[in-house]
Amino acid sequence: MTKQPVLPGSVRRLLDHPVFQDEAAARKALEQLRWPEGYRCIQCSSPNVEKVGGEKRSHREGLLRCKTCRRQFTVTVATVFHRSKVPLTKWMQVIFLEDTPGAAQNSWQMAQATGLAHKTIEKMRARIYAAVGKYEGPNNIFGRRVGGYIRRQRPESYQNAPKPLLRESSDPDVHHQVRDFSRWYGWRKRNPLGKPIMARGVLKAPGETSSENALVRTERLLLQLLANSPVKLLEKRRQKMAAPSHGRWLSKQPKTKPRNPADQTKDSKRGKN
Ligand SMILES: [Zn+2]
Repeated sequence: MTKQPVLPGSVRRLLDHPVFQDEAAARKALEQLRWPEGYRCIQCSSPNVEKVGGEKRSHREGLLRCKTCRRQFTVTVATVFHRSKVPLTKWMQVIFLEDTPGAAQNSWQMAQATGLAHKTIEKMRARIYAAVGKYEGPNNIFGRRVGGYIRRQRPESYQNAPKPLLRESSDPDVHHQVRDFSRWYGWRKRNPLGKPIMARGVLKAPGETSSENALVRTERLLLQLLANSPVKLLEKRRQKMAAPSHGRWLSKQPKTKPRNPADQTKDSKRGKN
């Protein structure tokens, strides 16, 4: 019995793209997606940002520093990738599999395809779903599973949207029913939600024309994940900066009671003797 490949060949070929294999390429792509017009400080949004470099290499990979407010940050700060120990290439792989129809069906298949633990995949997907859930735009841009998640977050009127019709195909070679989305498209045009996210071709493979860019879905999902920065994280940090944790060791009230002045005089007398 031959082992069934986890992913179809067309999907596996796409995983050869540098952003899924090379950590530096993945980071560069994320930076291009997050800051298309050059780096910007995450705290004061100043464009006066420099790369922290040097021969010692004691800094984190891709560390940036704002020259205005001196905040240090990387592209992953305050995104779904925040403080994750999973390599960015693996994150890219999971995001790609999540939003590509016909790729992995569930977390177990994703675990097999990426080589990560199933539990890790579950945690990563929880982060992805939590981030896309706040999205307020048309959901046609995401894949099946993420799109289904967004649909449940929609306002009441959107839950009654017409479902795509199933009908027999006119093509004699196609033996299954095909979905007819025309009613759904018409309804959505009358009930617009927001601007769709447009891919900019950052994840385009060399020699690929824009019309057959297979990673366009992945790029849109990435744009969505990067745009939806969890503000809580930044607020938490600001609070931390305002009240440093060591403050509790510097309490105004001394913990030990002051010595009895009478004892002190005794001590001084003893010292003299
Ligand atoms: Zn700054």
